[in-house]
Amino acid sequence: MNTQETQAQHTKCLIIGTGPAGFTAAIYACRANLSPIVLEGPQPGGQLTTTSEVENFPGYPQGVDGNQLMADLRAQALRFDADIRQALVTNVDFGTRPLSVTTSAGDTITADTVIIATGAAAKYLRLADEVKYRGMGVSACAVCDGFFYRKRCVAVVGGGDTACEEAIYLAGIAEKVYLIVRKDYLRASKVMQKRVFENPKIEVLFNTNTVGLFGEDVVEGAHLVEFVGTERERKFDIAIDGFFLAIGHQPNSAVFADYVETDEQGFIKVKAHSQATNIEGVYAAGDVCDPVFQQAIIAAGSGCRAALEAERYIMSH
Ligand code: NDP
Repeated sequence: MNTQETQAQHTKCLIIGTGPAGFTAAIYACRANLSPIVLEGPQPGGQLTTTSEVENFPGYPQGVDGNQLMADLRAQALRFDADIRQALVTNVDFGTRPLSVTTSAGDTITADTVIIATGAAAKYLRLADEVKYRGMGVSACAVCDGFFYRKRCVAVVGGGDTACEEAIYLAGIAEKVYLIVRKDYLRASKVMQKRVFENPKIEVLFNTNTVGLFGEDVVEGAHLVEFVGTERERKFDIAIDGFFLAIGHQPNSAVFADYVETDEQGFIKVKAHSQATNIEGVYAAGDVCDPVFQQAIIAAGSGCRAALEAERYIMSH
């Protein structure tokens, strides 16, 4: 086909996103004979492809590599003939029937039902220096970029499970890891906290905020403030080669926001005991609609629910 040509397609069920939610929805939708089209965006496989070992996905007593888990889910969706396509959604029209989605390639796909499973993306501190040094020492993915910091010194920002996981991963590569935590405690699970505190390469800097980065061409250090705004406030610098953000995630919902209701943080609102959004026939699953748990197994479960609901919607219409 001429690549310049635009392609019009119709499906009973369009699934947007290929993380655990999208692939699980695809497996169920295929088995219900909905012949889904599945759109794979800029991060095929979703966030689990940027993690190392997944230890808490049921069924893997020894843990499983995140990329392997996603490759297995993809293979399972393909086994039931999911039509997986690489495409970024740039526009939607959920005000008409059938529902309509336009991709960056200029294709328009129409659908009786849509399952939004676009996940979430890492948040940044919004420092000008993060932009200045992006790719030059600033990263939001230890597994992707950690390799460059062998025997170097790095910092991770955040006090949750992601930050602890990243710090532990980096400690296996780097010489020294600072964990910069704005409060006086970690909110990560106890098991992760224990691993951090027991790791001799990790130094936790509690009550500390990052206000800037410095370095000639690449990151050479960070400007920090301890006990900001109090009598004990202290400004100091640390020498680091890499600065990793692990301060939570922003839902990838912007392209749907003209139609689909979101909360103040951008998470898509779904009805109680359901994955249904405010638009009939449009469902959301996974981290894009989960401000609370953000777990792969929950994303997968919600993908299953969304596909079952899409099937029932089609049957009743
Ligand atoms: P969380 O929201 O749990 O933690 C974010 C961390 O970043 C908090 O410590 C928060 O600080 C800090 N933070 C937020 N904004 C800023 C800022 N502007 N400056 C400095 N620090 C900031 O996100 P996670 O990504 O860690 O985890 C999300 C979910 O995924 C959780 O439910 C977690 O349990 C789960 N998860 C589970 C894993 C596992 O089971 N292995 C692995 C990774 C994630 P504060 O505490 O002060 O608000």
